[in-house]
Amino acid sequence: MTRPQSAYQAQNPLLTDWTGPFGLPPFGAVKAELFRPAFDAALAAHRAEIDAIAAEQAAPSFDNTIATLERSGRALDSVSNLFFVLAGADTDDAIEAVEREVSPLLARHANALYLNRALYARIADLYTRRDSLDLSPEQARVLERYRTKFVRAGGALEKPAQQRLAAINERLASLGTQFGQNVLADEKAYALMLEEGDLAGLPEFARAAARAAAEERGASGKYAITLARSSCETFLQFSARRDLREKIFNAWISRGESGGATDNRAGIAEMVALRAERAKLLGFESFADYRLDDQMAKTPANARKLLDEVWTRARAKAQAERDALQAVIGEGGGNFALAPWDWRYYAEKLRKARYDLDEAEIKPYFQLDKMVAAAFETARRLFGLTFTPVDVPLYHKDARAYEVKDAGGRHVGLFIGDYFARPSKHSGAWMTSLREQEKLAGAVTPIILNICNFSKPAAGAPALLSFDDARTLFHEFGHALHGLLSNVTYPLIAGTAVPSDFVELPSQLYEHWLEVPAILQQYARHAETGAPMPKPLLDRLLATRTFNQGFATVEYTACALVDLDLHGLAEPTGLDVTEFERGDLERIRMPAEIVMRHRLPHFQHLFSGGGYAAAYYSYMWSEVLDADAFAAFEETGDVFDPATAARLRQFIYGAGNLRDPAEAYQAFRGRLPSVDALLKKRGLADAAA
Ligand SMILES: [Zn+2]
Repeated sequence: MTRPQSAYQAQNPLLTDWTGPFGLPPFGAVKAELFRPAFDAALAAHRAEIDAIAAEQAAPSFDNTIATLERSGRALDSVSNLFFVLAGADTDDAIEAVEREVSPLLARHANALYLNRALYARIADLYTRRDSLDLSPEQARVLERYRTKFVRAGGALEKPAQQRLAAINERLASLGTQFGQNVLADEKAYALMLEEGDLAGLPEFARAAARAAAEERGASGKYAITLARSSCETFLQFSARRDLREKIFNAWISRGESGGATDNRAGIAEMVALRAERAKLLGFESFADYRLDDQMAKTPANARKLLDEVWTRARAKAQAERDALQAVIGEGGGNFALAPWDWRYYAEKLRKARYDLDEAEIKPYFQLDKMVAAAFETARRLFGLTFTPVDVPLYHKDARAYEVKDAGGRHVGLFIGDYFARPSKHSGAWMTSLREQEKLAGAVTPIILNICNFSKPAAGAPALLSFDDARTLFHEFGHALHGLLSNVTYPLIAGTAVPSDFVELPSQLYEHWLEVPAILQQYARHAETGAPMPKPLLDRLLATRTFNQGFATVEYTACALVDLDLHGLAEPTGLDVTEFERGDLERIRMPAEIVMRHRLPHFQHLFSGGGYAAAYYSYMWSEVLDADAFAAFEETGDVFDPATAARLRQFIYGAGNLRDPAEAYQAFRGRLPSVDALLKKRGLADAAA
């Protein structure tokens, strides 16, 4: 059967050039049912372009093969970018249905590209002759990256192996989509509905957020605690009701493990087995070996060496923290052992006692709008960027747009911040784009988004962040700058298209500027009085930087170790996910009072698309870099030192994947980093190894 597509296509607004302000898509005309025909047409168009390149009669040249590939697939890029922004940030049943339909189609399409043997032969030929092609350094890098991508995808393999790879890729795409949708379904289905009398211990900002969340669920006058991190972590931190803490905590860590239709464990077992099989077909011992071969770390052993070094120290520190919390329970007359749902509550009590500091006192100083302004000001001081709000139609009324200009007043790009949690948004925080920077199709400027899940205040009240939320905001904004400042010609290597253990450098480095007193004094202002945070309070806040870092490091590092172990399995058939997780945590001697930051059944970094599969260690690896990179500023005596900032822009934020990551870092810093700055930053330098 054929669809009468041509007439429909002509009117499909998703397939026209985006002519909205700043080149934004026609959000007003977007309907879920337009996506499938738009994808079909865009996929067919790109497929024809790929086939033409592969069938080209002329001998391969950089232009007729690599550059032509780089110019191809533009409609598909536009439709995909728009679709996945909505699928992540403002989805519904209709979008989810399209997502399930198109994810295997996109995988099949990627197979048609990367498993095209004729195309691979042209690229391999160019690569062999690369020294005689008179390429610029950027062109040489792009050619090398294409060749690596094709080899890693199986482009050089024989037909039967390719056919099996193609089937694996399609199946993995479907499983990944289902995984993310299951987590969202579990999160949407749950809210702990409370009455006024259940709120003991909750400060006013937490009550207000819970009231707003209940209202959004049509339960005015009640209070809802949801499974969004900002909502349930705040409850765990403050609620004096141990029974309710236990309840919400168990719901939170059981996402994806309901036993019903949204249970993710069978899907995980299948994904892990398929990934291992794919790695074997490509000549690797395990998926982790395959994955890390093209990362900065290069081997699982290198990543593990770093994690082990951190783990033993973090575990020792967490045990000391646990003992201190148990003592607080005893002093309060409690006669029970600290449980995972108690940790945040007693840590908050201890922090208050030890530093005379409580979250409820700090929170009014962290207004969302002011923290956004602080992130912008940091970008102005470092890179000369300015951000001007612009009133343009977007996909949701809570999203806001800013035009970004450089010091000379030239347009750099568009930045969109979409900060509030809502039931139509997947959990977590991420940066994404509607358009990436490049110069191949003229000077194309980027459209970059930050999506977060901060609690939305009641109408008229200011949105308040925790210090952790503010750090998340700076983190994602660091990724945004990596996209906005990108200054390359070829789309393949633009912006954040770097290995995942390097991509967290620009984001984690940026978090350091949140803690710079010059920024906090100016932007941490009380929501009611407008007064800056008093110096003693600021000093106490900064003094708590390493407080509870044993817990935070254990919570994270356990995830990274379990990930490496799971994806390091050579023969993971018949995997029992629950049993594996339990056994592996026992092996690393996980403290009983701490639960993984992301348990396997809802570990979206690993299974919702697989961006960080066998690569969750990336955050720690990048942290070695960011701690050392910030020290480069501190050593000059000026955390905004212009010469250091210029090098940072040239070699890191602006450079995309122009250079091998180690080379890029050395160009910025003059040397590679050691682990010392990281241990100091986390307060682990003195902890027993
Ligand atoms: Zn990140």
